[in-house]
Amino acid sequence: MLPPLQCIIKRAQLSNTNQYLARAASKGLEAAMELRRLRGLSAATARQLFTSTVAPVVDYASNVWMHACKDKGMGPIHRVQRVGAQAIVGTFLTVATSVAEAEAHIATARRRFWKRAVKMWTDIHTLPGTNPLRRCTDQIRKFRRYHRSPLYHVADALKHIDMETLETINPFTLAPWAERVQADGGEQLEGPAEAGGCMQVAVSSSARNELVGFGVALEKRPPRNRKLKHKALSRTLAARTEQNPFSAELAAMAHVLSTMPGLKDYRITLLTSNKAAVLTLRNPRQQSGQEFVCRIYKLIKRLQRNRNHVQFRWVSASEDNKLLGLAKVQARAATQEDALLQESAPRMKSTTLNLARSQAVPRNTLPADVGKHAKRVDAALPGKHTRLLYDRLSWKEATVLAQLRTGMARLNGYLYRINAAATGQCACGQAKETVEHFLFRCRKWTAHRTEMLQCTDIHRGNLSFYLGGKSPSDDQKWTPNLEAVRASIRFAIATGRLEAT
Ligand SMILES: [Zn+2]
Repeated sequence: MLPPLQCIIKRAQLSNTNQYLARAASKGLEAAMELRRLRGLSAATARQLFTSTVAPVVDYASNVWMHACKDKGMGPIHRVQRVGAQAIVGTFLTVATSVAEAEAHIATARRRFWKRAVKMWTDIHTLPGTNPLRRCTDQIRKFRRYHRSPLYHVADALKHIDMETLETINPFTLAPWAERVQADGGEQLEGPAEAGGCMQVAVSSSARNELVGFGVALEKRPPRNRKLKHKALSRTLAARTEQNPFSAELAAMAHVLSTMPGLKDYRITLLTSNKAAVLTLRNPRQQSGQEFVCRIYKLIKRLQRNRNHVQFRWVSASEDNKLLGLAKVQARAATQEDALLQESAPRMKSTTLNLARSQAVPRNTLPADVGKHAKRVDAALPGKHTRLLYDRLSWKEATVLAQLRTGMARLNGYLYRINAAATGQCACGQAKETVEHFLFRCRKWTAHRTEMLQCTDIHRGNLSFYLGGKSPSDDQKWTPNLEAVRASIRFAIATGRLEAT
């Protein structure tokens, strides 16, 4: 009897995804080995090469097969990560993957896959409604027993974020021949409408109390009676999970330009302290906030038909501008606690992407059952400080430090464990040759140790201190003592004990 059709399809899918996985791993391994061959690179350079040459090879099309990547299937990918870590800081291949990744300060493969998948899921939702991918997101989200989309689990992890209200981002904001707005960073441009009035509008945004709002302050000088008119307004735009200060600046400009339909022969200058907003307006691209930019361009066109002239000016936040100060006060008023929303705007892609990443992308953590020695040396693993430790070191220095920090070093204590030495005892005959014995106690190296011991009076014999780790007694403000770390590395190199024979 034949198996049911669905089973056949499922089996075919599975073998396909496994093939993808195997292919990604073998290609990645090839790239990582090439990288490892380039001895003599600093850790910073090697890490950069890893992210630009090895990671993309492994991650290619990972959106399609990552759902099939269970713990067992991750083995070959983990191997790529370990070879990469070896190329960066010189950890041994026997070091647990997560410890090697933490030492080399590279993201775990799972984290990379999720980051890509979340980005793709968000990107799909910003496509125009005419795109077939955009229209099938509902079907992807649906739970099915068979024919489940590879993106289903991403959709499921992000089901609490309302993606349907996301902004639409078109391939082009403006036609290539459309005139861009004038924007400058300094002195005022001469407008053509000398006979008419002039107007200065300052916009500002504020983000606090989980809210985003904007404020506008306006100074209008009509042509004849020469009496200044002032106006100010504030608007609460949306929750901070949907909008950001940048989009609020654009929203403020769109709002204020829409309030002046009857204006004629005016020279309008919009002031802002947000440089990104001015640069975006001058050169709009395929980016978050595009709808606001389009709206601003449409409104400018309408104003220009009435012989108005609109320009944008960036004012440095340190400059004391009265109008901008007023706008800032208004913006802050818009984000007071318990302020009610007054506008409705599409969710910003950039903000949503950040939120989605924080919810769905797994953090780098060390599993409970690995890296006993590494955890004892450094309670702050994984952390940014490992970059600080390794980045300025040569590969030789880095591998010495990595060996001491991971405990997997060319010392008898470890070599015996992997059957590479006849005994775990140190050549001095006193004790087992561990990292601690080697660094602090072995009598063979007493002469070499003087410089190292001069580094500190209170931390003598503290493994964490000498290897740039955080010991449990250190407080929040702890930073590694690089002097001590350098001294330990010099000591280890001087003894020649850790070098390959
Ligand atoms: Zn010894």
